[in-house]
Amino acid sequence: MAFAPKPGCPMCGIVSQAQNQSNHLSSSSASQPDILWHDNNFSIYREKTNPVSSQGHIIIALNLHVPSIYMLSSSDLPLLAAIRDIATKLLHSLLPPETPQASPNSAMTLTHPARTRPSNFCIGFITPPFRDPRIPVTDHLHAHAYITPANRLGWFRSIAYSSLAWYDIDDLIAEIRESVSNNRVKSGYEGRADAPINLVPDAGARAGTANGRETTEASIALPHDIEEGQRRPSGSRPSPTTLSPPPDGGPQAQVYTS
Ligand SMILES: [Zn+2]
Repeated sequence: MAFAPKPGCPMCGIVSQAQNQSNHLSSSSASQPDILWHDNNFSIYREKTNPVSSQGHIIIALNLHVPSIYMLSSSDLPLLAAIRDIATKLLHSLLPPETPQASPNSAMTLTHPARTRPSNFCIGFITPPFRDPRIPVTDHLHAHAYITPANRLGWFRSIAYSSLAWYDIDDLIAEIRESVSNNRVKSGYEGRADAPINLVPDAGARAGTANGRETTEASIALPHDIEEGQRRPSGSRPSPTTLSPPPDGGPQAQVYTS
């Protein structure tokens, strides 16, 4: 299997624990990671030991042992959009209820958190060769999401979270889309979070030549049939765009609340 779990990899270990918890094979304990989310594509836990922010710092680990950001292709855009949207929801859930949002439309923000990321939510990747010295996993792709200010960062870790090393997930999505013809969303565009294209997680996911030849690479996410344009029927594995839990908290993903 491509990207099979690697023995001794801390992230693979956390994914395995998240899997066991979702299968009720083990219960959480104080020594285990605080798993917030687990589905077929990724596992998310709260960084308790070395958060960069006292308000919240979560790690989104791909379930597969994917070594780096450079393994991603345009086919993985829906996966990246899902990471951004779920991380946004989880960061919202970490905020104390009485904390006012930065946005004046806070009620709307909370109703549609998947589409609206407040400016104090940082979601992205630390690009190699940089790494967070407190979370020194370099060969298992994971995203960080935290709420600013990063009041527990310290100089020791600051380079990893500076513009030198930090790759914001919306920059990554926009730049992958830019690389695909007819999907031009400037990465620096201030209002891009609200751009209509952002409502379409698949936008830019397919690549091809002018004569109609498809050059789309396989996604590292669980597949759906791109030619049919249909999601697989329920009961099979969910595709990235269906990862958000339905309003009734249905069975597709495990959400853990503490
Ligand atoms: Zn791993």
